[in-house]
Amino acid sequence: MLTDEEARRERSLDTYWKAMALAKAGRNTVADVVVQPRSAEEVATTLAIAAEEGVPVVPRAGGSGSQGGAIPEPGGILLDLSALDQIEDLDEQALTVRAGAGVPGLRLEEWLNERGYMFPHYPASLHLAQVGGYLAAKGSGVLSTKYGKIEDLVASMRVALPSGELIETVPIPRHAVGPDLNQLFIGSEGTLGVITDATLILRPQPEHRAFRAVGFDDLATGVEAIRKALQAGWRPAAVRLHDPEATRMNLARILDSDVSGVKAILVFDGPQALVELEEREMVKALVAAGGRDEGPELAQGWWENRFKMYYPPFKPELPQVWGTIDLAATFSRILPAWEAVRELMLRDYSQYGLVFTGHFSHWYPWGTMVYGRFVLNEPPDDVDEAIRIYDEIWARSSEVILREGAVINDHHGVGLKLAGDLQAQYGAGWGVLKTLKGALDPAGVMNPGKLGL
Ligand SMILES: Cc1cc2nc3c(=O)[nH]c(=O)nc-3n(C[C@H](O)[C@H](O)[C@H](O)COP(=O)(O)OP(=O)(O)OC[C@H]3O[C@@H](n4cnc5c(N)ncnc54)[C@H](O)[C@@H]3O)c2cc1C
Repeated sequence: MLTDEEARRERSLDTYWKAMALAKAGRNTVADVVVQPRSAEEVATTLAIAAEEGVPVVPRAGGSGSQGGAIPEPGGILLDLSALDQIEDLDEQALTVRAGAGVPGLRLEEWLNERGYMFPHYPASLHLAQVGGYLAAKGSGVLSTKYGKIEDLVASMRVALPSGELIETVPIPRHAVGPDLNQLFIGSEGTLGVITDATLILRPQPEHRAFRAVGFDDLATGVEAIRKALQAGWRPAAVRLHDPEATRMNLARILDSDVSGVKAILVFDGPQALVELEEREMVKALVAAGGRDEGPELAQGWWENRFKMYYPPFKPELPQVWGTIDLAATFSRILPAWEAVRELMLRDYSQYGLVFTGHFSHWYPWGTMVYGRFVLNEPPDDVDEAIRIYDEIWARSSEVILREGAVINDHHGVGLKLAGDLQAQYGAGWGVLKTLKGALDPAGVMNPGKLGL
């Protein structure tokens, strides 16, 4: 247990803008105590004591979440899981490994790479996040179009329940023995229990990787061309379609170039023969649908510099206001929804020095997601007024997204930021979530308020 103020303060923030703004004003909530369990059993014991005493418990992994999920809003126990850092049971036949919730993403990757494997979940927060946070916030990495999101990369998990029990899910992820408990806890953001470790599904490191950029006259031509190519069966590892603002603010800045317009970045990986075929045929398909083959340099440059956007001098800093409006939809709904959000932002927030960019970065056979990023370069000086505008942006953008038949958030989780919007998204299904929450956590101590629960 850590009780000194510095240790508690340091762990009472994630990357939620509002909490950082309040912390700067000396007004954020700080946990009463930090508990650092060293085993799954110690996690379970902590939860049982907390439930008995009615003390809130907020799990924390790397603290890189952008939604306020790891903020100890009600005070209580901050459960720092970073000591659950074992990597074990590498199965070189099944290609799985067991990793503790506190294993840092980068350490896992380096450990696997030394042995010829990879865990193909590469969020831009690879250097910050931990395995438990990957799972609890239901994240996605840049290679998701080929390898899937985190929920596709888990065989089984151990979870400590608020009752103090430790459960293990069915050991393989494909079965017909009832509902999948992995999927109940993935994305539950510590509101139903604590994931202590998980058996993750690996891949061999690819024999070959190839890069290509394709330019389009407009977003609609790009989305349609990529849809057709993906539905025909091509599976690039990454597809990132940038709108002109994202090309200007992201690609051009990190590469220090004058690239402009709508650009798709493509990455292919796997056995060399497959990569060469897929690269050639997919680019041919995109060109036939209105694209321009612009060679490998831009895409390779992006790959090599892809983390830069998230670090100084590119990342915004307080008092700037920023956030990611992340939405997903079927192919017919994605562009109208994106245009509606964009119109709202440009119409009502340009007065604050708005920059608004969008790139479509995770693709599915049925649709895609768009990562809309806003920065207000000239926010009001008064922190309460800036927070009011910030909260208003989420409330209004979520309303527009749902009205347009899209879904709020593909992979950043909910936390406090989107807690008020979940009921509208789930409809009558909300009652099911509330019933599960009440049954598993009758004392209401697990991460209160997150997910709106
Ligand atoms: C620079 C940057 C880039 C990012 N890029 C991406 C990206 O590309 N893709 C992406 O998906 N996300 C991205 N994110 C968001 C964030 O990194 C992810 O949500 C990540 O998965 C969070 O992991 P974490 O270990 O930091 O979790 P935390 O922030 O510590 O926690 C996240 C949530 O999970 C809960 N939690 C944590 N561990 C457990 C556990 N073991 N059991 C139960 N609940 C738990 C917490 O209470 C909280 O609600 C980015 C963030 C930053 C700052």
